[in-house]
Amino acid sequence: MKPSIRKLNNYFKLEVERGYDNNAVVGGLDRMLEHWESEARIDGLDEDLIQMVISRIRDYPRLSEYSRYEMLQGLWQRIQRDEQVPPIDFTTPQQEPERQEPTTDPGQILEEKEPAPSPPEEPETKITPDQPEPDQVEDETEAEPDRQSALEPTATEPIAMDAPVTVLPGVGPSNARILERLGLRTLRDMLYYFPRRYDDYSLMKPINRLTYGEELTVIGTVERVNVRKVRSGRSKIVEIILTDGSGALKVNWFNQIWVAKRMRVGMQISVSGKVEQYLGRLTMNNPEWEYLDQKQLNTQRIVPVYPLTANMTQRRLRRLMDQVVSYWAPRVLEPLPGELRESAQLVDLPTALKQVHFPDSWDEIEHARHRLAFDEIFLLQLGVLGQSRSWKSRPGRQFIVSDEWITEQLGRLPYTLTGAQHRSLVDIRQDLSSGSPMNRLIQGDVGSGKTVVAGLAVGMIVHTGAQAAIMAPTSILAEQHYANLVRMLCEGEKALLGPEQVRLLIGATPEGEKQEIRDGLENGHIKLLIGTHALIEDPVSFADLQFVVVDEQHRFGVTQRSALRAKGDTPHLLVMTATPIPRSLALTVYGDLDISVIDEMPPGRQPVSTHVMMPRELERAYSLIRSQIDQGNQAFIVYPLVEGSEHSQAKAAVEEYENLKQKVFPNLRVGLLHGRMKGEEKEEVMSQFRDGDYQILASTTVIEVGVDIPKANLILIEGANRFGLAQLHQLRGRVGRGADKAFCLLVPETIDDAENERLKVMTETVDGFVLAEKDLEMRGPGEFLGTRQSGFTELRMASLTDVRLIEKARRFAKMLFNQDPDLEQPKHQFISAALEQFWTQGEGDIS
Ligand code: ADP
Ligand code: MG
Repeated sequence: MKPSIRKLNNYFKLEVERGYDNNAVVGGLDRMLEHWESEARIDGLDEDLIQMVISRIRDYPRLSEYSRYEMLQGLWQRIQRDEQVPPIDFTTPQQEPERQEPTTDPGQILEEKEPAPSPPEEPETKITPDQPEPDQVEDETEAEPDRQSALEPTATEPIAMDAPVTVLPGVGPSNARILERLGLRTLRDMLYYFPRRYDDYSLMKPINRLTYGEELTVIGTVERVNVRKVRSGRSKIVEIILTDGSGALKVNWFNQIWVAKRMRVGMQISVSGKVEQYLGRLTMNNPEWEYLDQKQLNTQRIVPVYPLTANMTQRRLRRLMDQVVSYWAPRVLEPLPGELRESAQLVDLPTALKQVHFPDSWDEIEHARHRLAFDEIFLLQLGVLGQSRSWKSRPGRQFIVSDEWITEQLGRLPYTLTGAQHRSLVDIRQDLSSGSPMNRLIQGDVGSGKTVVAGLAVGMIVHTGAQAAIMAPTSILAEQHYANLVRMLCEGEKALLGPEQVRLLIGATPEGEKQEIRDGLENGHIKLLIGTHALIEDPVSFADLQFVVVDEQHRFGVTQRSALRAKGDTPHLLVMTATPIPRSLALTVYGDLDISVIDEMPPGRQPVSTHVMMPRELERAYSLIRSQIDQGNQAFIVYPLVEGSEHSQAKAAVEEYENLKQKVFPNLRVGLLHGRMKGEEKEEVMSQFRDGDYQILASTTVIEVGVDIPKANLILIEGANRFGLAQLHQLRGRVGRGADKAFCLLVPETIDDAENERLKVMTETVDGFVLAEKDLEMRGPGEFLGTRQSGFTELRMASLTDVRLIEKARRFAKMLFNQDPDLEQPKHQFISAALEQFWTQGEGDIS
């Protein structure tokens, strides 16, 4: 079969399979014509046949399903005559032949019917009601309905979707700046800017049937327009009387004088809002309204309510959204192949985008949200699967250690491993001997002892002469790992490494030393490098890097993890996190990482005794601190801010430190630590605290991560209501690592804050998983993951608590991935593009 004929054969068959939905070619069957014509000529097809194919297929999108079936069948018969090709089994479409047109997007119909220039709207800013925003007026005058043609896609759709918002009629540079504040730069941004909620004004009633408290739409004729001053102040009220044959309704707008200018007696308008009561009569205050002969965006429907910014009103944003949605949503490419969409029971993307903005019903909203959320998780999963495959597809060096070796190493530790630590070690040993690269996450609560497990794994690598690297998010933590690992690997009998073979590389490392480290890594003398992201920023190269550990991995972006891995030749990877992650989240964020959980604390730990204390009880807290310090212990006092500001009531470390030092604990040694200090300074303070030079450390949350000081057994957290659960839990994990009973005192800012749900939960459990589930419930995934969970775009629609959706998206992602891992098949080309888009947008930093 000639290539051009084979193409038709394939597309036609696909159309048959899909019930003639014009989606065999994404964007419509006619889109194939661009290339097909020249291919057909190359194949030497009869010119008459070429013209016939072109003219018929050009009409295809406009035909009913039944006509499509007839047309394709006829066309193929003709091709069969000319080209001696086998028949295609054209089955009749589901729909009855009488049925005329496939349903068109209602938005489009409205667009076409919309009367020529609708009356320009004035902005409804509350601050300067009488003065329309100069730039908006200027922009409005630019607005010509036929400027829509400027939107006509010139190249391919995805490029046009990236057109700046200024291509919209009525959007000039100053409006573009306002939209930019909402993060809206391109048409795509706008399509994906979802309503915060909806107001349902789809209920309509005649005036005489209104009842108090209803939210609905009333349609009527303006009977009277009146503007009056409020006696007390300068504000003005616009009053109109609306009649509809059944009765009359008084409607008021406060401080929106422009409304009066737009109203004429005799005009038909629709008003939507809540029915209220004034002096025994029903009325409406500040309702949404619009002319009846205009496209109804603010009334008579389920109305989208968007997050706004200064100088942008719902009304105006809806109008802009309508322009974008009615023109662009139907033209958005559907990335999912039809069969996938069908079996996943998803509405198509154009419909979802249209319905999420201007829904026809609550059901439609539900379907739209489900589809959009599916896409997010699906793309997330595909990306994760791709990464993990590219990782696992290459062989990893085998590291096999004997039981004797393990026993010997365990014998060198000052304690015995917990059961959970042991299980993780078994997992790791298995991975390292498997011949493919390890890709494992150790999830273990703060203080569960992950470091020693990582250290033993490092031992398995370096004793063969290969190299390992450990990356931590802060220099304090890197320094601590360095000290621990030198102790583990370089001290005592039968030490695995000499102390000069383990090195620390952080931003503050002097250049001379860095150079020396680079040399040592390159000639292979240094076996273990520990550091911060300096490890990836520095041009260090390793002679034989075989093992990479990323600690507190949630602090790093995906790109940073891969950057470190790229320093070796498919090294084994171990990532560790103290953020206990609920199952649904782990499945999503970590995709195909293998997971070991350390769900057991080292013996002898007592749960940290946690109390919420009133601000006025602070003195009691201080005396508890004094008595603990008398017993040789140390304490952290944590503040929400570094320095005080006029804008915030929150206590700040710098000021409180002075107070603590001079007034509260004049006889004790108090140190100060915060994030604005230089790296070396922080390091210095931290080591002084660890060495007991300070008894109290006044600090911000910089001590949050992984810092281990066994003598510290009390943490006082001021402004505790300002912290998230995960953060509080991390902070609490800083204490209680020694044998002494440990305390966590949570002091909220006000008595009301003491009712804070998070604080209550903190006193109820020390189980990180329980807290994580609660946190997810209370704050939602965005907050939970924090801005640092980067590497993919923020999930706007998907709820990470929706395990069913996640599992569904994951199942389909896996299915697709197994079919076509590189997304090479033509029907997957748009998924591939969407994937790219999704994963590059949120590319993160660790700032
Ligand atoms: P995290 O999992 O939070 O990173 P660390 O690895 O810093 O925890 O360990 C916390 C503390 O527990 C360290 O002081 C470490 O020496 C100690 N530790 C680890 N494992 C054990 C164990 N099996 N028995 C006793 N102490 C342990
Ligand atoms: Mg740790």
